[in-house]
Amino acid sequence: MILLDVVNLKTTFQIDAGNVQAVRGVSFHVDEGESIGIVGESGSGKSVTMLSVTRLLPENAKVEADSINFNGTELLKQDDNFMRKIQGSEIGMIFQDPMTSLNPLFTIGDQIMEPIRIHQKLSGEDAKKRVIELLKLVEIPDPESRLKQYPHEFSGGMRQRVMIAIALSCNPKLLIADEPTTALDVTVQAQILDLMDELKKKLNMSIILITHNLGVVAKICNRIIVMYGGLLVEEGTSREIFYEPKHPYTWGLLRSIPKVTAQKSKLIPIPGSPPDLLSPPAGCPFAPRCEYAMKVCMKYPPKKIGLSDTHSVACWLMHPKSPGYKMEGLYAN
Ligand code: SF4
Ligand code: MG
Repeated sequence: MILLDVVNLKTTFQIDAGNVQAVRGVSFHVDEGESIGIVGESGSGKSVTMLSVTRLLPENAKVEADSINFNGTELLKQDDNFMRKIQGSEIGMIFQDPMTSLNPLFTIGDQIMEPIRIHQKLSGEDAKKRVIELLKLVEIPDPESRLKQYPHEFSGGMRQRVMIAIALSCNPKLLIADEPTTALDVTVQAQILDLMDELKKKLNMSIILITHNLGVVAKICNRIIVMYGGLLVEEGTSREIFYEPKHPYTWGLLRSIPKVTAQKSKLIPIPGSPPDLLSPPAGCPFAPRCEYAMKVCMKYPPKKIGLSDTHSVACWLMHPKSPGYKMEGLYAN
């Protein structure tokens, strides 16, 4: 069963200099109980894609799509009230920096209790019981005394556990985690990813993990979506992306995975910078940085080519008759 189905999403930001085309026609789905990773550098459109779905973008954003269906409901037809109701109940979210998301003036217990009061209408002992249950679920030791403490009394990893507890407080069907481990050191990162993996199995929820680090998604995600320049450039099962990647940008991301075990990380960054989305290039957005770029790449956007039921790629290299194939009908637009 499909839980979230996004068809042809386009998100534009109106700024003084013009329109930034942050997401340029992205389609994907997430099944019930499935975890997908959305991977790309900053500015690839991965966070904006999910913030468009949950309607959490600033006023200058314009979101268009053919459909955004969540759990059988067309979200494009729903008002802001409906969206507020599902944020923090059916859809839980966690972000990069748990310190800025937590209020330093309130205890951890109060902050976990708030969404429970609002969405589940629990109070008093019942709410407290639920808070303790949640702290246990995210493996915070000694929950009874921990809930009386303030955010500064928690380490970075423990704070992220608290954020996960808050996100899970109303039993969401979908958990969106945007760079959840980026601010944490490597050992703690691994612990948080282990926890998310466990929770996914225990609670049978769907997870969308957004990250710039392809290494982070390997453990948790069944499928991976690679984004570049506001486009989906490759999509496949984790196996397909790690063992049979076909897009030169995916190759670059794989080379730039920080090695956890290496003394000095042998990270090879992808040279060059992402395209200017105020005036996106006519052809493949990766062309200026791609060592395989051909003439056709500069001129025409590559169409999506299916390689298996689950694997697709948008790159001229994969076109059966590329390079130099000139039949206009095969080119997008
Ligand atoms: Fe490189 Fe061309 Fe493929 Fe783009 S379409 S990734 S420029 S080979
Ligand atoms: Mg981001």
